[in-house]
Amino acid sequence: MAQQLRSSLSGPAARNAVSFTAGSSAPDPIVRVRGLSRTFGAEQVLSDLDLDIASGEFVALIGRSGSGKSTLLRALAGLDGAVTGKLHVDGTVSVAFQEPRLVPWKRVSDNVCLGLRVPRAQERAAAALAEVGLSNRSQAWPLTLSGGEAQRASLARALVREPSLLLLDEPFSALDALTRIAMHRLVLTLWESHRPAVLLVTHDVDEALALADRVVVLTSGQIGLSCTVTADRPRDRNDPGLTNLRTRLLAELGVDKEGKI
Ligand code: ADP
Ligand code: MG
Repeated sequence: MAQQLRSSLSGPAARNAVSFTAGSSAPDPIVRVRGLSRTFGAEQVLSDLDLDIASGEFVALIGRSGSGKSTLLRALAGLDGAVTGKLHVDGTVSVAFQEPRLVPWKRVSDNVCLGLRVPRAQERAAAALAEVGLSNRSQAWPLTLSGGEAQRASLARALVREPSLLLLDEPFSALDALTRIAMHRLVLTLWESHRPAVLLVTHDVDEALALADRVVVLTSGQIGLSCTVTADRPRDRNDPGLTNLRTRLLAELGVDKEGKI
């Protein structure tokens, strides 16, 4: 049964790993959104939006700046008590944001298990840090990390909660090109081994096409276009199928082939 979501978890404790369960034995899809709306004053940001995400599916959400991507992600994370409509998420949700949001006065491993109330939390944090290749920095202070290291710590913090839905809000956009490519590989490796459903917000069409099973475009408060990407990974950017999809997605975004808006 879907639940009517009007108020939900919020505040700092909920920010790093938010979880709520609606219904007990819902089969696929793991995320079911119907008629989701959100206004800020007179501005209608989400307008009767529908979206399903299957268990283990990797979905990229793209849209112009200000189109409401983060608003949708916050709603899915249970961080927005003012959305209206039906929102059902089966299982645990973790979020990683564009800024890694590490607590500066806690060491990396303590950041990873912050708020984690499970037996042997430190052991699990160590395992998660090993998975993201950060074991050697587990006792470091966050401010001594590079941008890529901080994002890997943020991913470890999200993963240690073993989410069934992993929400990523432009987590690579502040990174340099090489670090980004390494992070793409890492996210795919983690996704393949843990198999959460993923919703990756990105403004980069190529990033979406490199990673996702499906790319959805947020336009005028709704999912305007949903494209399945069938190419095998790792993907060749010049694959004709991807080139066609890129053109279609850019057109939906109002961007021409040269990338001009
Ligand atoms: P995106 O992530 O696609 O760039 P956002 O979801 O952050 O867009 O924002 C969508 C719109 O909602 C923007 O016009 C933004 O100014 C507005 N908005 C988002 N959060 C708030 C808020 N807390 N108060 C007022 N307006 C907001
Ligand atoms: Mg945003």
